[in-house]
Amino acid sequence: MEVAKKIESVRSLVGTARSRGKKIGLVPTMGALHAGHISLIEAAVKKCNFVVVSIFVNPTQFVPGEDFEKYPRPIKNDLKICKKAGVDVVFAPTPEQMYPMENLTWVNVKKLTESLCGRFRPGHFRGVTTVCAKLFNIVAPDIAFFGQKDAQQAIVIKRMVADLNMPLEIVICPTVREPDGLAVSSRNQYLSKQQKKEAANIYKSLCKCSELIGAGIKNTAEIVAQMRAILKQIPRGEIEYVEIVNAETLQSIDKIAGKVLAAVAVRIGHARLIDNILVDAAK
Ligand code: AMP
Repeated sequence: MEVAKKIESVRSLVGTARSRGKKIGLVPTMGALHAGHISLIEAAVKKCNFVVVSIFVNPTQFVPGEDFEKYPRPIKNDLKICKKAGVDVVFAPTPEQMYPMENLTWVNVKKLTESLCGRFRPGHFRGVTTVCAKLFNIVAPDIAFFGQKDAQQAIVIKRMVADLNMPLEIVICPTVREPDGLAVSSRNQYLSKQQKKEAANIYKSLCKCSELIGAGIKNTAEIVAQMRAILKQIPRGEIEYVEIVNAETLQSIDKIAGKVLAAVAVRIGHARLIDNILVDAAK
């Protein structure tokens, strides 16, 4: 496994692989790798025969006051995990590599970034789409892999790729969970054992939503109220949002119909946790 810190190094390694007819897979991450990231790498290894993992804590997607400085950066362990998972190249640039001068060019996906997390993290998605556009231009993968855990991000990236005719496929992989349902996340490290246990109520609330839709309840407000009641069981948990939206447009809906996305964001201690599930009401 090669570790490239420079853009020209990763370009040259990928260029050689491509000239040998390899199919290039990219897994963009911010590091602090866990079972969720590993599942994306495994999907990439299955579908591609040259896999690049990028590890970059992207400053432009953090809103002022967020955890950019203290975001975990256990690079040694991350490299071990990548090697074991069969990664060919880890691209781990510095912020100076990625942003050598004031960035004047931004990718902004409208509408889809205005609801859910977009309302609470202004500028976050602009940072995500811009860094992903940069990574796609640097690595030029055939396929890039993202997690359903960050559902809004996945939809936004897919739309950027479609709107800008970027020549790659986006594959979305299922959310990996702890045995109690808590979505695995780098930010779970900020939780105490007790808080982690309580955080399982996030997934419980999502399961309740799925159950109620399955039982034929159509009134979104009624479902959201029951989800909130479960989330209230997290002591000192601050609910940022609990929403049920159209799974394609991410717009709020009053009545459940077709494919919907139930999404939750809760602050517990120093962690801001998000999770979601897709429910097809037609089924
Ligand atoms: P991050 O390092 O948090 O930026 O995440 C990198 C990628 O891993 C994103 O595409 C995430 O959606 C994905 N990811 C994070 N947590 C999980 C999880 N629990 N299950 C599946 N994918 C995940």
